[in-house]
Amino acid sequence: MREAGRHLGAVLAELRDRVRPGITTLELDRAADRAIRRRGCVPGFLGYDGFPRHLCVSVNEEIVHGVPGRRRLRAGDLVSLDCGLIHQGWWADAGLTVACGAVRPEHAELLRVTEEALELGILQARPGNRIGDIGHAVQRHLEGHGYGVVRLYTGHGIGRDMHEDPQVPNHGQPRRGVEIRPGLCLAIEPMATLGDPATRVRDDGWTVVTQDGRWACYFEHTVAVGEEGPEVLTRLPA
Ligand code: MG
Ligand code: MG
Repeated sequence: MREAGRHLGAVLAELRDRVRPGITTLELDRAADRAIRRRGCVPGFLGYDGFPRHLCVSVNEEIVHGVPGRRRLRAGDLVSLDCGLIHQGWWADAGLTVACGAVRPEHAELLRVTEEALELGILQARPGNRIGDIGHAVQRHLEGHGYGVVRLYTGHGIGRDMHEDPQVPNHGQPRRGVEIRPGLCLAIEPMATLGDPATRVRDDGWTVVTQDGRWACYFEHTVAVGEEGPEVLTRLPA
């Protein structure tokens, strides 16, 4: 899983660097496919529950599960990239939101705080803690900045499959839920909204958007719990 995570971190760094005004989301998808296969890995998302692409690209009021297509990115967009791959039978799942060109200060702040929430959640993924400690840390940080916390979609265990037990909600109470033990691998993925966190799915059957149309962002890492604490497997190379 370390190897899988290292490959995915590199793939995401490459995709992040391609985000710019004028590129289409389908071009990002093709770049993801090439980058994954060049590394000898298998694109995990293609065909997963019938998903038609290699990458989820969710723009602005889209939160997650956006399907790449003809949309051309514009300066000021918030572009969430979510990717998964399989390396020798083991999964990695991670993503980030990227500012396309210059974005409004309130959007830059949303990105910064959501990434911080992910890091705070990760710090709770240590032996002796419980799953609720992760969600509590994420929720407290996001709500403390006045953001909405999406409830309907969660992080998850990960390993031989992308989605394994336990669920990892982005809200919760300390000392509640499944105990975190060494060897557990989790995908932690806070989703934050500028407005109300209520969601709906578009007619394409995939794209999750905010009901109120206000913008959202998302960050995700695959994390392994070691005896000494969390190890982030999908860190993007510097
Ligand atoms: Mg993901
Ligand atoms: Mg995930």
